[in-house]
Order: sequence, then C-alpha cells, then structure tokens
Amino acid sequence: MSDATAKKEERRKFQAIKGTRDILPPETELWNRVEQTAHEVFSTFGFGEIRPPIFEPTELFARAVGGETDIVSKEMYTFEDRPYELEELPWAETGTYIKNLKDLMQKGMIPRDEATLPELEKAWEEFESTPWNADGSMPGNVLQLAEHVELLKSVIQKGHKISLRPEATASVCRAYIEHNMQQLPQPIKLYYTGPMFRRERPQKGRYRQFYQIGAEILGGTDAPAIDAEVIEMLMTFFDKVGLQGATLYINSIGHNADNCRRGYVATLKAALEKVKDQLGPDSQRRIDTNPLRVLDSKLESEQPIIATLPHIADHLCDECKAHYAAVKRQLELRGVLYQENWRLVRGLDYYMRTTFEITAPGLGSQNAVCGGGRYDGLVELLGGPPTKGIGFAIGEDRLILSLQESGKGQAQQGRDVYIAWMGERAYAAAIRAAKDLRNAGFSVELPPLEQKFGKALSQADKLGAKYALILGDNEVSEALWTLKTLSTGEQEKFPEPELIDFLRNQKSPS
Ligand code: AMP
Repeated sequence: MSDATAKKEERRKFQAIKGTRDILPPETELWNRVEQTAHEVFSTFGFGEIRPPIFEPTELFARAVGGETDIVSKEMYTFEDRPYELEELPWAETGTYIKNLKDLMQKGMIPRDEATLPELEKAWEEFESTPWNADGSMPGNVLQLAEHVELLKSVIQKGHKISLRPEATASVCRAYIEHNMQQLPQPIKLYYTGPMFRRERPQKGRYRQFYQIGAEILGGTDAPAIDAEVIEMLMTFFDKVGLQGATLYINSIGHNADNCRRGYVATLKAALEKVKDQLGPDSQRRIDTNPLRVLDSKLESEQPIIATLPHIADHLCDECKAHYAAVKRQLELRGVLYQENWRLVRGLDYYMRTTFEITAPGLGSQNAVCGGGRYDGLVELLGGPPTKGIGFAIGEDRLILSLQESGKGQAQQGRDVYIAWMGERAYAAAIRAAKDLRNAGFSVELPPLEQKFGKALSQADKLGAKYALILGDNEVSEALWTLKTLSTGEQEKFPEPELIDFLRNQKSPS
C-alpha cells in the first residue's frame, strides 16, 4: 500500500456507525423547532417533561416490551456493566462483610438478571445454612465460610446486564413506580424527547439510533375521553409543526380475556394454521410466537390472505366494544378525523384496547410517524400498583423527513447581519454593534480578522446574510453606520441607536 493510500485509509477509519448519523445545521434548526413545538403544545395539555436515563436494566425491557418481540429478542444493544467493586476485608470482619453483602442484595445493588440469579440463590442458600454465632461473629469453620464469601464475590463481581433503551414507555412506568407517583394527584402526564436504539436493518426512515417524542398518561381513569384527548394533542402538535397529509388510524385490540382478545387470538391462530402454506417464513413463525403480528405484514403476496382473516371487532367483549365506540364519539366531538384499521395491532405486548398510528406522506414503506395505545396492565407488570396507562411515541426522524419532503422543513439559513469592518476604531464599534444586535435577538457574524470590504461583502453573500453592516473610518467619524440590504443592494445610513430599531421593524428576530 502506498503512503498516500495508507493515509487515505487512516482518514477513512472514523465514520458514524451504520444506522447512526450526524444531524447538522441548518437541519438541526428544524429539529429544534419541532421539539420546541412539542414543549409548547404538550404543556398546554398539562404535560410535564421527564428525562429518564438512556440505559436501564435489560430485564426492564424484557418484562415490559416482551421477550418474544423482535425488539427484545434481537434488536437491543445489551452489555454487561462494570462489575461492582468489592473491598477486601480482613478475615476477622467476615461476619460484617457477609452482612454487608446481604444489605447490598436487599437494596438491589447486586445483579439479579437471569444469568446470575441461580448462582446468587445457590450462594445465598449456602450462606444462610452456615451456622452463625449468636453475636454475629465468625463461626468456627473459617475455611467453609471463606468458600461462601468467594462464591458470593464471584456472583457479585458480574456486572448488571443493561441495555440502551429501545423505547421509553418502560422507563416512564419504572419512574412512576420508583417515585411513588401514584400518591400524587392522578393522572400523571409526562412527555419525553430523545434517542432510542434498535439494531434494525437501516433504510430510509429506519435508523439504529433514532429519536422519539413521546407522551404517557398514567393513573386515574381509563375514560375514553383520555384516549381521545391524547390523540387530539398529537394531532394538534402535527398541525402546529405543519405536517401535511397525516392520516390517523385507530383500532381496539380488546383486553386479555377469553371472551375478548385471547379468544380472538385463538380464532386467528386456527385461521392462520389453515393458510400457513401460503404465508412467508416470518408470518409462519409468528403463528406460534405472536399471531397478531401477522396482521402487521406488509408482504404483497400475503395481503389477499390476510384480508380473509377474522376481525377483532367481532370478538371484543361488551366493555371493550363500548369503550371503543366511546373513543370514536369523543374523537368526533373534538373534530379529530380518523380511519379505522382492523389490522392495527402494534408490535409490543403491552397494548390493550385503543391502538392508533399516524402515517405521513413522503416516507416510502416506513410511513408510520407515530404509534401509540392503551396499556393498563404495564405498571402492575413492572411491580407497581394497578394503574391505567396510555401513550404514544412519534418518530422524530420520520416527521422531519416528511416535513422536508413537503417543503415545510426549510430551515432558516444564514445570518441576519454580517459586520464588514475595517480599521481599529471601526473594530471597537463592530464589537459593540455585534453585542447589541445579538442581545436584541439577531444572528450576527463578526469576522475575526480585518478584510477588504469587497471580500467581506462576498463572504456575507456566501453565508446567506440578509444585511451587511459596513463600518469603516468614515462611518465612525460621522457616527452614521451604513446598512446594506444584500438582496437588493440598497444602502442606508443610520445613527447607531436607530439601527436596531430599523432592523426590528424589518423583521422579527430569528
Ligand atoms: P414503536 O415504538 O415501534 O411503535 O415506534 C414508534 C414510532 O417511532 C414509529 O411510528 C416510527 O415513527 C418511529 N420508529 C420506530 N423505529 C424506528 C427506527 N428504527 N428508525 C426511525 N424511526 C423509528
């Protein structure tokens, strides 16, 4: 390899990892506008922001999202945390040492994931069966005890299994339980924005690090008005950010009882078995693991078969039927347009009753910009009290893509004012002008080095500046500053104090 090629290779080494990317200016401006709109709209509906951690115990997602789901079984980024560091204690204090270990276990500071649990239990049993002296001091058989300590240490030194979050609903529910939010006035309304991680096959609108804006309502009632208001908030948000052509699909998947979803799943499974040969391998597998997911299939060849399958609406229990009818009525009261889609089952295990999804144009096959639904049993499943819950997650990357495709995503480019200065005295005035203009909210470029006016003006053009403020010896001696409008080439002179007023009247600050 030649030197040049080797150098090139070396330079090529660092690239964003497949499925991740840098979001750069000016596009970040659009991201900020979208997030700012979420803050504003959600707070008018009484939501407060939560910022949960980006990683959590793997077990949390396995339990909440479901071990059978693609997300948990093959898409999570999971790793072992650094081991818990144990201090070396002198033998004389072994009794205290073991007591400390017990304390740590009870506080949940020792890993209790699937892999370590059996070992931990074995070690614990042996420890418990060790005959203790009544005063808690060392029993006679020091050697036997040393073995116990070593065994406990070997378990403890394994780190927790943790995963980068593939979604945030599980974290929000965990936080609800951890902070005893059920003791606060219900319901609790929380929203979040931030990155999620799934090891999916990257394509347009599908990344391995992607961003979601989500909201959850926990506690209180499951009145259909709650479902409708969450959806109303979502559509208000989409409207405010300028998303065009969004379609809201809704469905009810009932609750997990024999006379409702469980009964339907059994019927569906039987119907699927009959047409198994005509389905692709993914759907065939899902007949056993999660038959509802077959309805999600986008495979062209499966569509005519899926169209003949039984509908869940014919299998809902009376309560779920009434709830669904009331949600639709409530949406109509709010003037929210929807379409029903009996195949909308959502991929995650925890959903029940209302499910919804919003699609947007310009996204190709990955056209869902938001998914959500009711998940009344989830908090309880994670060890909390019985709690109603509903929420949604917007795919921010896809929302941004759709805004850009429809021309609504034009980020503001350039600066408001480029300061073209020449000379020492002018530079002092330029620094003052930059400070005053920035305080007034204008974006200002102040070149760090002196340059000829011609060069400065062409630089201002390149940056897409709207105005050039020209400060030279003349301007400073006359105390009259020259402002050039770059789109028209017009020039006007202003006394220093009037300049900001003039700019303010031309436009509101960006
Ligand atoms: P889910 O939690 O899978 O229902 O996702 C909710 C929303 O997040 C989807 O409707 C998508 O808009 C978005 N989303 C999910 N996975 C990805 C991904 N890998 N890349 C980009 N957006 C995603």
